Amino acid sequence: MKIAVIGGGPSGLYFAILMRLEGHEVEVFERNARDATFGWGVVFSDRTLRSLAEPDLETHRLLVEQLRTWENVDIVHRGQLISVAGNRFSGIARIALLQVLQNRASELGVAVHFEREVSDPLEISADLIVGADGVNSLVRSRLAEHFEPSLEQGNNRYIWYGTAQPFGGLTLTFRSAPEGLFMAHSYKYSQGLSTFIVEVDEPTWRNIEHLEENASRSLLERVFAADLGGHRLLSNLSRWIRFTVVRNRRWFHRNVVLLGDALRTAHFSIGSGTKLALEDSIALREAFRAHPRVEDALPAFEATRRSQVAEYQAVSELSRHWFENARHLMHLEPLPFAYEAMTRSSRVDDSSLARRDPAFVAAYREYLARGR
Ligand SMILES: Cc1cc2nc3c(=O)[nH]c(=O)nc-3n(C[C@H](O)[C@H](O)[C@H](O)COP(=O)(O)OP(=O)(O)OC[C@H]3O[C@@H](n4cnc5c(N)ncnc54)[C@H](O)[C@@H]3O)c2cc1C
Repeated sequence: MKIAVIGGGPSGLYFAILMRLEGHEVEVFERNARDATFGWGVVFSDRTLRSLAEPDLETHRLLVEQLRTWENVDIVHRGQLISVAGNRFSGIARIALLQVLQNRASELGVAVHFEREVSDPLEISADLIVGADGVNSLVRSRLAEHFEPSLEQGNNRYIWYGTAQPFGGLTLTFRSAPEGLFMAHSYKYSQGLSTFIVEVDEPTWRNIEHLEENASRSLLERVFAADLGGHRLLSNLSRWIRFTVVRNRRWFHRNVVLLGDALRTAHFSIGSGTKLALEDSIALREAFRAHPRVEDALPAFEATRRSQVAEYQAVSELSRHWFENARHLMHLEPLPFAYEAMTRSSRVDDSSLARRDPAFVAAYREYLARGR
């Protein structure tokens, strides 16, 4: 089978690798240069990493070599850090992840064409066309009448920076300032760098939207001075944006299928966008293993994957809304605030938290028993 993949991000490259391993002829069209990327690091849970071993042990091995791993989620509120153990995650630079996938794809004989922007996916001739072209997918908009996408904008604005400050775990920092509430999501992903995403709600945004990029970065460096340990915030075309929740009523049309962020997004506060992108690729490969014909595989892919994706998107939405409304919890003391932050989505509840960190839950129960 001849496969054309539009978009050389994690979902497109990983699917290309997996289908090449099945013996298919695969081409990837990527509009950016080989070494271009946006952003800094991404995170994986242990479970995600394990799920990558079976599909391609070599990619898994190359990724594991580059990961930085931590165990705790740290929550900073009113200047106090509460550490919650038992949350094993790993970080990797997005560029490192892409390089691993690019090299593996080339080594296997996938034809990866860089600096090739596809302007009309329907002009490509292939047995299968994969729209792995990200959140602003051209494939999705070109075939919008068939996919029937819905795009919803989050209320908060966020900006994605890097910093040399080495954070000890996945750190959620809440700082109040005269301009409003500032929330940072940070984690170390390489020897010398951490991701530092700042999120602000609508009232805060109204107070800072007039600032130029340099001025707003200086403001954030002042707001988070105690957390950044004297390090600067590093920009990589960083700008304030709103999160787009992508959904599609239909996932394929004839021989064209969507994958990754083009298909659906998950809020960065649950750190699952790349995980879902890679799992989509595995699920689509599985569908082709069970149903070799395109007209059978694509419906099978949608039928098996849709409920898993819906579950994740529901968790992601709870988490996004929690951050959008976090200002109403700022009156809480650090311990109950940390508990609220940890249980913000249905994914972690009291008993799973008690398994991860019994001492944290015991301290919280003691706090409740004291009558606050
Ligand atoms: C602030 C922020 C933080 C995040 N943090 C995490 C995290 O911690 N963990 C995590 O797992 N995920 C995270 N994500 C999500 C993650 O970045 C995405 O979910 C993931 O990259 C999706 O992969 P993808 O391959 O579907 O799309 P993308 O990575 O967006 O790749 C799409 C590719 O298609 C190319 N392309 C687009 N249009 C065309 C065209 N017409 N022709 C040719 N090429 C084209 C683009 O150049 C791009 O390379 C975060 C996202 C954001 C915004």
